[in-house]
Amino acid sequence: VNSSSPWSIDERPEAPTRLGYGAMGTFRANPAGFLTEAVNNYVLTAHGNWSVPFQHPFFAAPVAIAFADGDSEEFLDIKKKYPWTLTPRECLENPPRVHAETVTRQPKSRVDMPAAGHIPLIGEDGHLTWPTGEPPLPPWKGPGSTGVDRGAIGESYGGPPPSKEPPAGPPPPPRPERVTVMSIGLPIHPATLEAEASYPWGNSPELKVHSLLGAHLGFTIDVTNYVVKTLQMLGCLAISPYHTTWGSEFQMDFQYEGPTSRQPISPCPERDWAVAAGLGTWGLSDMIITERGMAVILASIVTSAEIPASGRPTTEYCLFFRDGSCRECVPRCPGQAISTDLDPPGRLSARCEAGARAGVMFNETYLKERMLTELGEYAFSSGNLIWEGSGLGMPVISFLACGRCYTDVPCSTRIPG
Ligand code: SF4
Ligand code: SF4
Repeated sequence: VNSSSPWSIDERPEAPTRLGYGAMGTFRANPAGFLTEAVNNYVLTAHGNWSVPFQHPFFAAPVAIAFADGDSEEFLDIKKKYPWTLTPRECLENPPRVHAETVTRQPKSRVDMPAAGHIPLIGEDGHLTWPTGEPPLPPWKGPGSTGVDRGAIGESYGGPPPSKEPPAGPPPPPRPERVTVMSIGLPIHPATLEAEASYPWGNSPELKVHSLLGAHLGFTIDVTNYVVKTLQMLGCLAISPYHTTWGSEFQMDFQYEGPTSRQPISPCPERDWAVAAGLGTWGLSDMIITERGMAVILASIVTSAEIPASGRPTTEYCLFFRDGSCRECVPRCPGQAISTDLDPPGRLSARCEAGARAGVMFNETYLKERMLTELGEYAFSSGNLIWEGSGLGMPVISFLACGRCYTDVPCSTRIPG
Protein backbone atom coordinates (compact mmCIF):
# COMPACT_ATOMS: atom_id res chain seq x y z
CA VAL A 1 0.00 0.00 0.00
CA ASN A 2 2.73 2.42 0.86
CA SER A 3 6.35 2.35 -0.10
CA SER A 4 7.40 5.78 1.12
CA SER A 5 8.65 4.56 4.47
CA PRO A 6 12.07 5.89 5.45
CA TRP A 7 13.06 2.43 6.59
CA SER A 8 11.72 -1.09 6.34
CA ILE A 9 10.98 -3.19 9.40
CA ASP A 10 14.37 -4.92 9.23
CA GLU A 11 16.37 -1.77 8.60
CA ARG A 12 15.00 0.16 11.53
CA PRO A 13 17.73 1.47 13.84
CA GLU A 14 18.49 -0.58 16.89
CA ALA A 15 18.67 1.11 20.23
CA PRO A 16 18.76 -0.24 23.75
CA THR A 17 15.40 -0.35 25.51
CA ARG A 18 16.62 -2.07 28.68
CA LEU A 19 18.15 -0.39 31.66
CA GLY A 20 21.89 -0.95 31.78
CA TYR A 21 24.35 -0.70 34.66
CA GLY A 22 24.81 2.91 35.54
CA ALA A 23 21.26 3.82 34.59
CA MET A 24 20.54 5.16 38.06
CA GLY A 25 23.46 7.57 37.89
CA THR A 26 22.54 8.75 34.40
CA PHE A 27 18.93 9.23 35.46
CA ARG A 28 19.84 11.22 38.56
CA ALA A 29 22.24 13.44 36.64
CA ASN A 30 19.72 14.32 33.93
CA PRO A 31 16.26 12.77 34.47
CA ALA A 32 14.59 14.67 31.62
CA GLY A 33 17.32 13.73 29.13
CA PHE A 34 17.32 10.10 30.31
CA LEU A 35 13.54 9.71 29.94
CA THR A 36 13.41 11.54 26.60
CA GLU A 37 16.05 9.23 25.18
CA ALA A 38 14.32 6.17 26.63
CA VAL A 39 10.96 7.05 25.04
CA ASN A 40 12.53 7.84 21.66
CA ASN A 41 14.48 4.58 21.68
CA TYR A 42 11.36 2.65 22.59
CA VAL A 43 9.35 4.20 19.76
CA LEU A 44 12.15 3.62 17.25
CA THR A 45 12.68 -0.02 18.13
CA ALA A 46 9.11 -1.13 18.67
CA HIS A 47 8.36 -4.06 16.40
CA GLY A 48 5.42 -6.36 16.13
CA ASN A 49 1.81 -5.77 15.28
CA TRP A 50 2.17 -2.06 14.87
CA SER A 51 3.90 -2.41 11.51
CA VAL A 52 1.64 -4.87 9.73
CA PRO A 53 0.82 -4.74 6.86
CA PHE A 54 2.55 -1.44 6.10
CA GLN A 55 6.27 -0.98 5.94
CA HIS A 56 6.32 1.63 8.63
CA PRO A 57 5.11 1.81 12.21
CA PHE A 58 2.20 3.97 13.28
CA PHE A 59 4.39 6.38 15.23
CA ALA A 60 7.55 8.30 14.40
CA ALA A 61 10.34 9.71 16.59
CA PRO A 62 11.47 12.05 18.03
CA VAL A 63 8.48 12.53 20.26
CA ALA A 64 7.35 15.84 21.77
CA ILE A 65 7.87 15.77 25.51
CA ALA A 66 7.40 18.12 28.46
CA PHE A 67 7.85 17.91 32.22
CA ALA A 68 6.12 20.04 34.85
CA ASP A 69 5.56 20.33 38.58
CA GLY A 70 2.22 18.58 39.10
CA ASP A 71 1.53 20.63 42.27
CA SER A 72 1.86 23.95 40.39
CA GLU A 73 -0.95 26.49 40.03
CA GLU A 74 -1.62 25.47 36.42
CA PHE A 75 -2.66 21.97 37.48
CA LEU A 76 -4.56 23.10 40.57
CA ASP A 77 -6.50 25.59 38.41
CA ILE A 78 -7.68 22.74 36.17
CA LYS A 79 -9.13 21.00 39.22
CA LYS A 80 -10.79 24.24 40.36
CA LYS A 81 -12.36 24.68 36.93
CA TYR A 82 -13.40 21.04 36.56
CA PRO A 83 -13.94 19.74 40.12
CA TRP A 84 -14.70 16.20 38.94
CA THR A 85 -11.14 15.75 37.68
CA LEU A 86 -8.21 14.56 39.75
CA THR A 87 -5.02 16.50 40.34
CA PRO A 88 -1.77 14.76 39.39
CA ARG A 89 -1.05 14.35 43.12
CA GLU A 90 -4.42 12.69 43.70
CA CYS A 91 -3.64 10.33 40.83
CA LEU A 92 -0.41 9.31 42.46
CA GLU A 93 -1.63 9.09 46.06
CA ASN A 94 -4.99 7.33 46.20
CA PRO A 95 -6.82 7.79 42.93
CA PRO A 96 -9.71 5.28 43.08
CA ARG A 97 -10.93 6.62 46.42
CA VAL A 98 -10.64 10.25 45.37
CA HIS A 99 -12.33 9.50 42.09
CA ALA A 100 -15.20 7.72 43.85
CA GLU A 101 -15.63 10.80 46.05
CA THR A 102 -15.67 13.27 43.15
CA VAL A 103 -17.62 11.29 40.56
CA THR A 104 -20.94 12.75 41.67
CA ARG A 105 -19.67 16.19 40.69
CA GLN A 106 -19.26 15.13 37.07
CA PRO A 107 -21.17 17.39 34.73
CA LYS A 108 -24.60 16.66 33.37
CA SER A 109 -23.32 17.06 29.89
CA ARG A 110 -23.43 13.78 28.11
CA VAL A 111 -23.79 14.38 24.41
CA ASP A 112 -26.02 11.77 22.87
CA MET A 113 -24.91 9.59 20.03
CA PRO A 114 -26.21 11.31 16.91
CA ALA A 115 -29.31 9.66 15.46
CA ALA A 116 -29.26 8.63 11.80
CA GLY A 117 -31.02 11.84 10.78
CA HIS A 118 -28.38 13.88 12.54
CA ILE A 119 -25.47 12.67 10.48
CA PRO A 120 -24.54 14.74 7.43
CA LEU A 121 -24.47 13.06 4.05
CA ILE A 122 -21.41 13.71 1.93
CA GLY A 123 -22.04 13.55 -1.82
CA GLU A 124 -19.49 12.14 -4.22
CA ASP A 125 -18.44 15.71 -5.04
CA GLY A 126 -17.79 16.34 -1.35
CA HIS A 127 -20.90 18.50 -0.91
CA LEU A 128 -22.39 18.18 2.55
CA THR A 129 -26.11 18.03 3.29
CA TRP A 130 -27.87 17.44 6.56
CA PRO A 131 -30.85 15.11 6.15
CA THR A 132 -32.95 17.27 8.43
CA GLY A 133 -32.39 20.23 6.12
CA GLU A 134 -30.24 22.16 8.55
CA PRO A 135 -27.60 21.42 11.15
CA PRO A 136 -29.56 19.64 13.88
CA LEU A 137 -27.76 20.97 16.91
CA PRO A 138 -28.45 24.33 18.52
CA PRO A 139 -25.79 27.03 18.29
CA TRP A 140 -23.13 26.29 20.79
CA LYS A 141 -21.93 28.81 23.30
CA GLY A 142 -19.09 28.23 25.66
CA PRO A 143 -19.36 28.03 29.44
CA GLY A 144 -20.58 31.25 30.96
CA SER A 145 -22.59 32.34 27.93
CA THR A 146 -26.28 32.89 28.31
CA GLY A 147 -29.44 31.88 26.54
CA VAL A 148 -28.46 28.41 25.44
CA ASP A 149 -30.75 25.46 25.98
CA ARG A 150 -28.49 22.47 26.31
CA GLY A 151 -31.48 20.13 26.63
CA ALA A 152 -31.50 19.48 22.92
CA ILE A 153 -27.88 18.44 22.98
CA GLY A 154 -27.74 15.96 25.75
CA GLU A 155 -29.23 14.39 28.78
CA SER A 156 -28.00 13.83 32.28
CA TYR A 157 -24.84 11.94 32.54
CA GLY A 158 -24.62 8.76 34.52
CA GLY A 159 -26.88 7.01 37.01
CA PRO A 160 -27.69 7.88 40.61
CA PRO A 161 -24.78 8.84 42.80
CA PRO A 162 -23.15 5.99 44.70
CA SER A 163 -24.98 5.45 47.99
CA LYS A 164 -22.29 3.49 49.77
CA GLU A 165 -18.84 4.33 50.91
CA PRO A 166 -16.38 3.22 48.27
CA PRO A 167 -14.68 -0.05 49.23
CA ALA A 168 -11.58 0.46 51.30
CA GLY A 169 -8.83 -0.43 48.87
CA PRO A 170 -5.24 -1.16 49.72
CA PRO A 171 -3.53 1.41 51.93
CA PRO A 172 -2.39 4.47 50.00
CA PRO A 173 1.27 4.68 49.08
CA PRO A 174 3.45 7.07 51.08
CA ARG A 175 2.89 10.72 50.30
CA PRO A 176 5.46 11.71 47.68
CA GLU A 177 7.41 14.90 48.24
CA ARG A 178 7.35 15.80 44.59
CA VAL A 179 4.84 15.16 41.83
CA THR A 180 6.00 15.57 38.26
CA VAL A 181 3.78 15.35 35.18
CA MET A 182 5.44 13.98 32.07
CA SER A 183 3.40 14.75 28.96
CA ILE A 184 4.27 13.07 25.67
CA GLY A 185 3.04 13.65 22.13
CA LEU A 186 3.64 10.55 20.00
CA PRO A 187 3.77 11.72 16.37
CA ILE A 188 1.75 9.71 13.87
CA HIS A 189 4.08 8.50 11.13
CA PRO A 190 4.34 10.90 8.14
CA ALA A 191 3.53 8.05 5.71
CA THR A 192 0.20 7.47 7.48
CA LEU A 193 -0.54 11.20 7.40
CA GLU A 194 0.26 11.26 3.70
CA ALA A 195 -2.16 8.38 3.10
CA GLU A 196 -4.80 10.17 5.16
CA ALA A 197 -4.42 13.34 3.12
CA SER A 198 -5.00 11.38 -0.09
CA TYR A 199 -8.45 10.22 1.03
CA PRO A 200 -11.33 12.59 0.29
CA TRP A 201 -13.35 11.93 3.46
CA GLY A 202 -13.25 9.29 6.14
CA ASN A 203 -10.03 7.45 6.89
CA SER A 204 -7.37 5.82 4.76
CA PRO A 205 -6.82 2.04 4.99
CA GLU A 206 -3.46 2.84 6.62
CA LEU A 207 -5.04 4.51 9.61
CA LYS A 208 -7.86 2.01 9.89
CA VAL A 209 -5.65 -1.07 9.87
CA HIS A 210 -3.00 0.39 12.14
CA SER A 211 -5.66 1.43 14.61
CA LEU A 212 -7.56 -1.84 14.48
CA LEU A 213 -4.37 -3.78 15.07
CA GLY A 214 -3.91 -1.77 18.22
CA ALA A 215 -1.38 0.84 17.19
CA HIS A 216 -3.44 3.86 18.09
CA LEU A 217 -4.24 3.14 21.73
CA GLY A 218 -2.39 -0.12 22.24
CA PHE A 219 1.02 1.27 21.44
CA THR A 220 0.37 4.36 23.54
CA ILE A 221 -0.35 2.05 26.47
CA ASP A 222 2.88 0.17 25.70
CA VAL A 223 4.89 3.38 25.79
CA THR A 224 3.38 4.57 29.03
CA ASN A 225 3.83 1.13 30.63
CA TYR A 226 7.47 1.15 29.58
CA VAL A 227 8.06 4.58 31.14
CA VAL A 228 6.13 3.72 34.30
CA LYS A 229 8.08 0.49 34.82
CA THR A 230 11.39 2.22 34.09
CA LEU A 231 10.62 4.87 36.70
CA GLN A 232 9.54 2.25 39.21
CA MET A 233 12.77 0.31 38.67
CA LEU A 234 14.62 3.54 39.36
CA GLY A 235 12.87 3.74 42.72
CA CYS A 236 10.15 6.28 41.93
CA LEU A 237 6.38 6.11 42.23
CA ALA A 238 4.86 6.30 38.76
CA ILE A 239 1.45 5.87 37.17
CA SER A 240 -0.16 6.44 33.81
CA PRO A 241 -3.56 7.64 35.03
CA TYR A 242 -5.33 7.57 31.68
CA HIS A 243 -4.63 3.87 31.27
CA THR A 244 -5.89 2.66 34.62
CA THR A 245 -9.38 1.20 35.03
CA TRP A 246 -10.64 4.33 36.76
CA GLY A 247 -8.85 6.71 34.40
CA SER A 248 -9.90 5.01 31.18
CA GLU A 249 -13.54 5.12 32.17
CA PHE A 250 -14.36 7.60 29.45
CA GLN A 251 -11.56 7.31 26.96
CA MET A 252 -13.48 5.25 24.42
CA ASP A 253 -16.51 7.52 24.35
CA PHE A 254 -15.54 10.72 22.72
CA GLN A 255 -19.13 11.85 22.75
CA TYR A 256 -18.62 12.22 26.50
CA GLU A 257 -16.47 15.26 25.98
CA GLY A 258 -19.36 17.47 26.92
CA PRO A 259 -21.05 20.31 25.08
CA THR A 260 -17.70 21.99 24.60
CA SER A 261 -14.84 19.69 23.83
CA ARG A 262 -12.53 21.65 26.09
CA GLN A 263 -14.61 20.50 29.01
CA PRO A 264 -12.94 17.26 30.03
CA ILE A 265 -15.16 14.44 31.24
CA SER A 266 -12.34 12.04 32.02
CA PRO A 267 -11.05 12.18 35.60
CA CYS A 268 -7.60 12.61 34.01
CA PRO A 269 -7.84 15.60 31.66
CA GLU A 270 -4.94 14.77 29.36
CA ARG A 271 -5.24 17.67 26.95
CA ASP A 272 -5.52 20.23 29.75
CA TRP A 273 -2.54 18.61 31.46
CA ALA A 274 -0.54 18.70 28.22
CA VAL A 275 -1.10 22.46 27.95
CA ALA A 276 -0.32 22.96 31.66
CA ALA A 277 2.86 20.91 31.27
CA GLY A 278 4.01 23.07 28.34
CA LEU A 279 3.74 20.37 25.67
CA GLY A 280 1.91 22.78 23.37
CA THR A 281 -1.04 25.12 22.98
CA TRP A 282 -4.68 24.65 21.97
CA GLY A 283 -5.50 24.52 18.28
CA LEU A 284 -8.74 25.82 16.83
CA SER A 285 -9.85 22.19 16.39
CA ASP A 286 -9.42 21.70 20.15
CA MET A 287 -6.44 19.44 19.88
CA ILE A 288 -2.98 20.33 21.08
CA ILE A 289 -0.31 21.71 18.75
CA THR A 290 3.10 20.48 19.93
CA GLU A 291 6.59 21.06 18.55
CA ARG A 292 5.92 17.89 16.47
CA GLY A 293 2.59 19.29 15.33
CA MET A 294 -0.97 18.37 16.12
CA ALA A 295 -0.97 14.85 14.63
CA VAL A 296 0.19 13.29 17.85
CA ILE A 297 -1.38 10.88 20.32
CA LEU A 298 -1.03 12.09 23.88
CA ALA A 299 0.40 10.04 26.72
CA SER A 300 0.72 11.23 30.33
CA ILE A 301 2.70 9.87 33.26
CA VAL A 302 2.69 11.12 36.85
CA THR A 303 5.73 10.33 38.95
CA SER A 304 7.40 11.19 42.23
CA ALA A 305 10.70 11.74 40.38
CA GLU A 306 12.03 15.28 40.70
CA ILE A 307 12.44 16.53 37.15
CA PRO A 308 13.05 20.19 36.22
CA ALA A 309 10.09 21.79 34.44
CA SER A 310 10.56 22.33 30.73
CA GLY A 311 8.67 25.64 30.68
CA ARG A 312 5.62 26.68 28.69
CA PRO A 313 5.43 28.13 25.17
CA THR A 314 5.49 31.91 25.09
CA THR A 315 3.41 32.23 21.91
CA GLU A 316 0.20 30.71 20.61
CA TYR A 317 1.12 27.93 18.19
CA CYS A 318 -2.28 27.96 16.43
CA LEU A 319 -2.22 30.64 13.73
CA PHE A 320 -5.89 31.46 14.29
CA PHE A 321 -5.32 32.17 17.98
CA ARG A 322 -2.00 33.91 17.24
CA ASP A 323 -3.10 36.38 14.59
CA GLY A 324 -6.26 35.08 12.90
CA SER A 325 -4.34 34.06 9.79
CA CYS A 326 -5.44 30.41 9.51
CA ARG A 327 -8.71 28.48 9.47
CA GLU A 328 -7.57 25.50 7.44
CA CYS A 329 -8.91 22.85 9.77
CA VAL A 330 -12.46 24.26 9.42
CA PRO A 331 -13.24 23.00 5.87
CA ARG A 332 -11.43 19.70 6.54
CA CYS A 333 -14.12 18.60 8.98
CA PRO A 334 -16.85 16.36 7.55
CA GLY A 335 -19.15 17.27 10.44
CA GLN A 336 -18.81 21.07 10.25
CA ALA A 337 -17.81 20.78 13.89
CA ILE A 338 -15.08 23.45 13.93
CA SER A 339 -16.06 27.08 13.73
CA THR A 340 -14.61 30.47 14.46
CA ASP A 341 -18.17 31.75 15.07
CA LEU A 342 -18.52 29.71 18.23
CA ASP A 343 -17.95 31.40 21.54
CA PRO A 344 -15.16 30.65 22.25
CA PRO A 345 -14.00 29.51 18.79
CA GLY A 346 -13.44 25.77 18.70
CA ARG A 347 -15.12 22.46 18.08
CA LEU A 348 -18.53 21.08 18.94
CA SER A 349 -17.96 17.51 20.05
CA ALA A 350 -21.38 16.11 19.07
CA ARG A 351 -20.80 17.28 15.52
CA CYS A 352 -17.35 15.75 15.62
CA GLU A 353 -18.99 12.41 16.36
CA ALA A 354 -21.47 12.99 13.52
CA GLY A 355 -18.60 13.91 11.21
CA ALA A 356 -16.72 10.70 11.92
CA ARG A 357 -19.86 8.73 11.10
CA ALA A 358 -20.41 10.72 7.92
CA GLY A 359 -16.86 9.89 6.87
CA VAL A 360 -17.47 6.17 7.40
CA MET A 361 -20.68 6.39 5.34
CA PHE A 362 -18.78 8.19 2.57
CA ASN A 363 -16.10 5.49 2.50
CA GLU A 364 -18.69 2.73 2.42
CA THR A 365 -20.67 4.42 -0.36
CA TYR A 366 -17.96 5.65 -2.70
CA LEU A 367 -14.64 4.07 -1.78
CA LYS A 368 -15.56 0.56 -0.70
CA GLU A 369 -14.06 -1.24 -3.70
CA ARG A 370 -10.89 0.87 -3.65
CA MET A 371 -10.39 0.30 0.07
CA LEU A 372 -11.08 -3.43 -0.05
CA THR A 373 -8.58 -3.75 -2.90
CA GLU A 374 -5.93 -1.74 -1.04
CA LEU A 375 -6.50 -3.63 2.18
CA GLY A 376 -6.30 -7.06 0.59
CA GLU A 377 -6.23 -9.78 3.22
CA TYR A 378 -6.44 -7.15 5.95
CA ALA A 379 -9.88 -6.02 4.84
CA PHE A 380 -11.48 -8.11 7.55
CA SER A 381 -8.82 -7.67 10.24
CA SER A 382 -10.22 -7.86 13.71
CA GLY A 383 -7.03 -7.79 15.78
CA ASN A 384 -7.42 -5.44 18.69
CA LEU A 385 -11.04 -4.45 18.38
CA ILE A 386 -11.63 -1.56 20.67
CA TRP A 387 -13.98 0.61 18.68
CA GLU A 388 -17.41 -0.11 17.42
CA GLY A 389 -18.16 -0.39 13.74
CA SER A 390 -16.11 -3.43 12.99
CA GLY A 391 -15.83 -6.99 14.17
CA LEU A 392 -15.59 -10.49 12.88
CA GLY A 393 -16.96 -10.56 9.37
CA MET A 394 -17.23 -6.77 9.18
CA PRO A 395 -14.84 -5.00 6.82
CA VAL A 396 -12.28 -2.73 8.41
CA ILE A 397 -13.60 0.20 6.42
CA SER A 398 -16.47 0.48 8.90
CA PHE A 399 -14.05 1.45 11.64
CA LEU A 400 -15.21 4.73 13.13
CA ALA A 401 -12.60 7.43 13.44
CA CYS A 402 -11.63 10.71 11.91
CA GLY A 403 -8.78 13.10 12.54
CA ARG A 404 -8.98 14.96 9.25
CA CYS A 405 -8.61 18.25 11.17
CA TYR A 406 -5.01 17.33 11.96
CA THR A 407 -4.01 16.03 8.53
CA ASP A 408 -3.00 18.20 5.60
CA VAL A 409 -3.10 21.42 7.65
CA PRO A 410 -0.22 23.80 8.46
CA CYS A 411 0.05 22.51 12.03
CA SER A 412 -0.01 18.76 11.21
CA THR A 413 3.64 17.98 11.90
CA ARG A 414 5.19 21.21 13.19
CA ILE A 415 4.59 24.53 14.85
CA PRO A 416 3.06 26.55 11.98
CA GLY A 417 4.11 29.99 10.79
S1 SF4 B 1 -5.15 24.35 10.91
FE1 SF4 B 1 -4.67 26.50 11.37
S2 SF4 B 1 -6.48 27.24 12.57
FE2 SF4 B 1 -6.56 24.97 12.55
S3 SF4 B 1 -5.52 24.38 14.48
FE3 SF4 B 1 -3.95 24.37 12.82
S4 SF4 B 1 -3.00 26.44 12.88
FE4 SF4 B 1 -4.94 26.52 14.06
S1 SF4 C 1 -11.98 14.58 14.19
FE1 SF4 C 1 -13.02 14.72 12.18
S2 SF4 C 1 -15.17 15.14 12.64
FE2 SF4 C 1 -13.98 15.57 14.50
S3 SF4 C 1 -13.52 17.78 14.44
FE3 SF4 C 1 -11.76 16.69 13.49
S4 SF4 C 1 -12.25 16.63 11.28
FE4 SF4 C 1 -14.16 17.11 12.37
